[in-house]
Amino acid sequence: MPRPLDLESPRVLVLNAAYEVLGLASIKRSVLLVLSGGAEMVAESGRYLHTPSTRIPVPSVIRLKRMVRRRPGRVPLNRRNVLRRDRYTCQYCGQKGGELTVDHVLPKSRGGLSTWDNLVAACRACNLKKGNRTPEEAGMRLLKPPKPPLLPLFLSDLKEVPEAWRPYLEALLR
Ligand SMILES: [Zn+2]
Repeated sequence: MPRPLDLESPRVLVLNAAYEVLGLASIKRSVLLVLSGGAEMVAESGRYLHTPSTRIPVPSVIRLKRMVRRRPGRVPLNRRNVLRRDRYTCQYCGQKGGELTVDHVLPKSRGGLSTWDNLVAACRACNLKKGNRTPEEAGMRLLKPPKPPLLPLFLSDLKEVPEAWRPYLEALLR
């Protein structure tokens, strides 16, 4: 027996008319959008909702028919979200998990701002080693330049990314 469908939790990838990822929606909202003509189904999940007279395919990916601009930077900037963006991985040595701090790449004391592109997850040892220096001065390298998250969703929060989502997420996973 397959697990019962959870209609309320975000399980459907939502694209805008230009096939850009907007975020996630619940099955309920997605099905209503498709039925009302506001969105089209791009990929089915293989599951169905049953009514007395018909069955409705449950979407895995939908595309809104009207153009919605992607609005980057809607994710609140805070410690927790910086760690989430960096997948709980020290951006200097690559250590995953453990006790992580948030490091100002250009130190605060030297005018570094608390912005998405100046904050990274760092393990305690790396943060200590770097001290009041820039990565260059400390001879340390960032795994990748920090950027604002593109999405109102964090892929690292998903247990698994459905195969049907991959073509649309590729640009973001790079
Ligand atoms: Zn480290």
